[in-house]
Amino acid sequence: MEVPAHVQQLLAALRAGGFVACPVGGCVRDSLLGRVPGDWDVCTSARPEQVKACAAPRWRTADTGIAHGTVTVLTAGGPVEVTTFRVEGGYSDHRRPDGVRFVADLKEDLARRDFTVNAMALDEGGIVDPFGGRADLQAKVIRCVGEPAARFEEDALRILRALRFAACLDFSVEPATLAAARAAAPTLCRVSAERVFTELDKLLLGPGAGRVLAECGDILARDIPAVGPCLEFDLRSPRHDRDLWDHITRAVALAPPRRNVRWALLLHDLAKPDCFVLDREGFGHAPGHAARGAALAKQVLADLKAPGRLLQGVQPLVRWHDTPLPQDTPGVRRWLGRWGWPTLEDLIAVKRADLLAHADAPVIRRRLEEVARFERLAREAHRRDDCVRLDQLALKGSDLMNAGVCRAGPRMGRLLGAALNEVIEGRVENHPAALLAWARQQKR
Ligand code: ATP
Ligand code: MG
Repeated sequence: MEVPAHVQQLLAALRAGGFVACPVGGCVRDSLLGRVPGDWDVCTSARPEQVKACAAPRWRTADTGIAHGTVTVLTAGGPVEVTTFRVEGGYSDHRRPDGVRFVADLKEDLARRDFTVNAMALDEGGIVDPFGGRADLQAKVIRCVGEPAARFEEDALRILRALRFAACLDFSVEPATLAAARAAAPTLCRVSAERVFTELDKLLLGPGAGRVLAECGDILARDIPAVGPCLEFDLRSPRHDRDLWDHITRAVALAPPRRNVRWALLLHDLAKPDCFVLDREGFGHAPGHAARGAALAKQVLADLKAPGRLLQGVQPLVRWHDTPLPQDTPGVRRWLGRWGWPTLEDLIAVKRADLLAHADAPVIRRRLEEVARFERLAREAHRRDDCVRLDQLALKGSDLMNAGVCRAGPRMGRLLGAALNEVIEGRVENHPAALLAWARQQKR
């Protein structure tokens, strides 16, 4: 295992002070999986003040969570969190330990950790793995350390962490762990919206997101109530060969792992049960579900205290996921002018994943061809840097005034808008002389 130099130096300093110190948790798990760990956490027998004494004078430290035993050592290679071996007291609120007690033994510290794959450390003698974490990595399984019901009872956030790790590592949740997570799901209301959001956001970007969501919709419905009515909802349509929640989660699975795209797909059809009607032949429809869905998406993301920029990216995707795309260059340019290329690129991904999660019907194949044509035209227009907005037009209000065509005022606005329209339609070149000549010909 390749421990980075700055971590090794810190381990050496703690060990020179007579303490046990080892990398622990996510970094050990990721290294064993052959991935590069995001950060290296260290656990140690040293108390926080002893950690600080070992670090000085070479490194500065920050008292990150001193009461819980965590000191951040600011090494040249980056910050490293160093946490004293500890066990946790009672959890009266299903979320935070009432207190912690420092202990001398690494194994006791590993026992308080959530999952076996996260409860390994790298000691001087090699991997310390008292709970079978390596075997579970091999078997691709998320399993609680100890009795699952008790562990979820202590801290409800672990329910979402289990799903998140399963999605991100593309593992399954071991059956007894999953059953306990399900049973403990009512306590999810104790977890703050921000923490829920962070876990769901990571989960959604994982390669196993669709599969985990499909299996755990009932758990997710605790955090996003609008998911509840989608579970096993029969769409009664020849275009669908699965229930609504299966459709939604399949679309998530088929989409590229981009934040706006995956969130939009999770949310895109949540308003369908509310908009659902049957036609005379008994087929299901959900008129207005995209507009209702966009409003619902706003509500869901606000409830989760998601960053505003996510809502900005996601809302148009939900709103327009079901609208036919223009199939000619002027139409494509108008969409490009209104939304910009990054949003259209996301919309293309959303529409494609949504369609692919339908039954293989002729109308679905036709729509997929429309998406492909729209994508080709939009990509070309974007690459050519076609003029699609007023600020790209080679004619400014000042040009019109200087040429004596019109004065500042509403007519000027109308004239510039009409000029942009001519350029978008391809009837006038986006060139100052051509545009001015066109403007002179317009009736007052
Ligand atoms: P990543 O940083 O890639 O998300 P990680 O495993 O490092 O994964 P962290 O949230 O950084 O996850 O936590 C570090 C370690 O602390 C975990 O590996 C686990 O051993 C332990 N841990 C974190 N949160 C909990 C929790 N809620 N309950 C029990 N142990 C936890
Ligand atoms: Mg970590």
